[in-house]
Amino acid sequence: MVEGPDDVCAPMLGEAENHCLCDSVTERDLKASEAVEALLKIPAGPGASIRPDADFLGRMRDAFSAGSIREGCARCEWSPLCTGIADSGFDGVLVKPLDC
Ligand code: SF4
Repeated sequence: MVEGPDDVCAPMLGEAENHCLCDSVTERDLKASEAVEALLKIPAGPGASIRPDADFLGRMRDAFSAGSIREGCARCEWSPLCTGIADSGFDGVLVKPLDC
């Protein structure tokens, strides 16, 4: 877990109107990590290391679909997209469990 923009967000940092460093994003990240910690009883803040095995992904996806770990999603412009992905059963999502 990293604080601030991760490798996925890094390419956007050069854009004129990137929002990755806004306080609202920092607050969203904090709410997300707190939700994961509350759900899984593991450290999930900056510096934590999480192995995304099948149990982890299953529990996270179940909770996300149920809306129980989405406090950080409030007012996020991507919420309809993420809700649709959850509603599809995460069909086509490329993140797979590391079970080897
Ligand atoms: S709606 Fe999607 S993109 Fe927005 S904070 Fe939630 S999980 Fe992240």
